[in-house]
Amino acid sequence: MNRVSLNSLSVILFIVVFVSFIGGSASAFLRLQGIDGVIYAKEKGGSETSRTQELEELVEVLGVLESRIGEFEEQMGNIAMQVEKFEERIGELEAELEVWQEKCNDLELEKISLEEKIDELLSQRRPASDEEQTAGSNQGNQNSQSNPWGTAEDKLGGSMPVAYLTFDDGPSKNTIEVLDILKEENIQATFFVTGNNLSGEAGIYSRIVNEGHSLGNHTYTHDFTTIYRSVDNFMGDLLLLEDFLQDETGMTTNIMRFPGGGSSKLARKVAGYDIMDELIPEIIKNGYDYFDWNIDSGDGTGNLTAVEILENVKKGSERVTGDLVILFHDSCSKGTTVEALPLVIAELREKGYVFAPLNPGTVEAKHRKPSA
Ligand SMILES: [Zn+2]
Repeated sequence: MNRVSLNSLSVILFIVVFVSFIGGSASAFLRLQGIDGVIYAKEKGGSETSRTQELEELVEVLGVLESRIGEFEEQMGNIAMQVEKFEERIGELEAELEVWQEKCNDLELEKISLEEKIDELLSQRRPASDEEQTAGSNQGNQNSQSNPWGTAEDKLGGSMPVAYLTFDDGPSKNTIEVLDILKEENIQATFFVTGNNLSGEAGIYSRIVNEGHSLGNHTYTHDFTTIYRSVDNFMGDLLLLEDFLQDETGMTTNIMRFPGGGSSKLARKVAGYDIMDELIPEIIKNGYDYFDWNIDSGDGTGNLTAVEILENVKKGSERVTGDLVILFHDSCSKGTTVEALPLVIAELREKGYVFAPLNPGTVEAKHRKPSA
């Protein structure tokens, strides 16, 4: 729009200059005609002296004309310079606008992820609906898709409830410490990793597998704005990490967690439609089971202290019946997660939980069930 008004401005300026130029030329022409008339009259009967005088006047008029043309040229030059400046300014404003639009997009994404968080917290506070309770009591089958939270009669721990500790987004500089703690406690957990190894240890993926933990696919780049743009993008990124993990560990993984979770509104926002409807069947077709969580340790938001993380898990375990799938983050800024880990383990042990890694079908923790 700016460019359009600038263009009209240049056109108007040009017309003004052109008209005054024509006007100037016309009056000069008329003056010349007048002089010619005089010269003609003088030729008829005038003297040599007045003829010379008229010629001098003519030369003077020509001089005036020339200087006028010079002025016009100067004015044109000034206008061209102004136009150039305007164009430059428009370019600057356009670049600024782009930055603001980007900021706006980021805020929009942040807003969605906060809304998602609120939804999740609200759904955790809400008691199970009648429908869910009925489905739970009628089945006793852990593979049924009607109960997203798993059941108390779940298997691995026999009569004992199981706590599945899950660590997202690693390997980070905390991974080694986390692995050391788990080893000391003789506990197996699950790591939903990306292709970005920030642990400083080349063989970290193998170490995770060799120590009996489950390695889950969390996409290679974890870049929301790219992976959720299309099914092809997502699957390309997921399979890239699958190949990478196979090279690293010599083994394949068949469990995954969607970045942001299976009910991610962020994914819908980026794709422009409910892409999970297509992604879930697609990853299942590729042999994967996917896991969300039923307890969020809260370490993904803000800078919680170890005690606050422990409190979140404690409260969560009082709310959830049956097995726990607990979300932690294995990223460089989450030092308090490492501090909280021994406390969380002690707390859950005291409550009678046993610990196990996730495998396909071990527990239902899906925020978004596969559509029938
Ligand atoms: Zn993640």
